[in-house]
Amino acid sequence: MVSVVFEDPDSIEGAVNLLANSKIKASVLAGGTDLIIQMQGLQEERLVVDVKKIPSMMQAELSKDGLALGPSVPCAELTARDDIKAVYPGLVEAAYLIGSTQVQGRCSVGGNLCNSSPAADTIPALIANNAQCVIVGPNGERMVAAEDFVAGVGQNIMEKGELLAKINIPRPAANTSDAYLRFIPRTEMDIAVAGAGVSVTLDSDGTCTAARVVIGAVAITALLVPDAATALIGTKFDEAALQAAADAASAAAKPITDRRGTVEFRTHVVGVLVKRAAKIAAQRAGE
Ligand SMILES: Cc1cc2nc3c(=O)[nH]c(=O)nc-3n(C[C@H](O)[C@H](O)[C@H](O)COP(=O)(O)OP(=O)(O)OC[C@H]3O[C@@H](n4cnc5c(N)ncnc54)[C@H](O)[C@@H]3O)c2cc1C
Repeated sequence: MVSVVFEDPDSIEGAVNLLANSKIKASVLAGGTDLIIQMQGLQEERLVVDVKKIPSMMQAELSKDGLALGPSVPCAELTARDDIKAVYPGLVEAAYLIGSTQVQGRCSVGGNLCNSSPAADTIPALIANNAQCVIVGPNGERMVAAEDFVAGVGQNIMEKGELLAKINIPRPAANTSDAYLRFIPRTEMDIAVAGAGVSVTLDSDGTCTAARVVIGAVAITALLVPDAATALIGTKFDEAALQAAADAASAAAKPITDRRGTVEFRTHVVGVLVKRAAKIAAQRAGE
């Protein structure tokens, strides 16, 4: 039987020290809703570093500059925060889609990002909101944009000894809002067949002045689609603009066929989701 070595440091430095100096494979434990499942049938010794005793990992602070999100804050805590929901409704609705009430009691946005699944719900919403990842390791701190964090299926740019220590999400400009939508074959408890995170900014007469359109579950990583944003900018979200954004998203998608959906279905649905999410984000931005 293989053994698991468990540590629960109370500081970022302590966690990095353990991760960097471990002679055996080391994993960070946030909510464990991915990690524990992945560790079933473990074949070799593993160091598990639980980061939930580190105060900054478990706090979400909203200020005039934006949201400083402790990566391990449980999604249930995030979705219960009306102040955060008011500023980033799309990010909160993405967190609210993960699993069930029970799963949300444990799972975190940081865990979702670090697990780096192509179907992760919060990743398109983080990218749409210009999130920046603060990574701390034995050589200090570095900042990586959310769109550059995931490198492939279950892979990201973090190196041995590094910890995702904070997710900084800038406060959106005036008249800006976001939305996240996904399609699943069931009503709940399934992973995205396609997803779309959209953020838009309006001027005083409702014309779109800036947009970020991100698609999920239709490529090995979530994709920022600048052509879809360009299709929206300068418009009032008329049908032609929304369709052009949808077409750009479908053109950018590189999906696979699996038991949840075919290439053709995913390509079409992601466009529909972009159209709907853009409409919702625009309506919110105008309120
Ligand atoms: C029943 C069920 C339903 C689910 N439904 C969904 C769904 O609808 N949508 C969805 O997107 N996901 C879903 N998931 C997957 C999972 O719940 C999410 O990915 C969740 O956000 C992971 O968060 P966590 O805190 O539990 O991460 P953990 O399991 O603790 O960690 C996940 C991975 O990230 C690493 N990690 C975590 N935090 C850090 C950090 N700070 N620094 C470095 N590495 C870190 C861990 O080592 C591990 O490799 C589901 C899971 C279950 C069990």
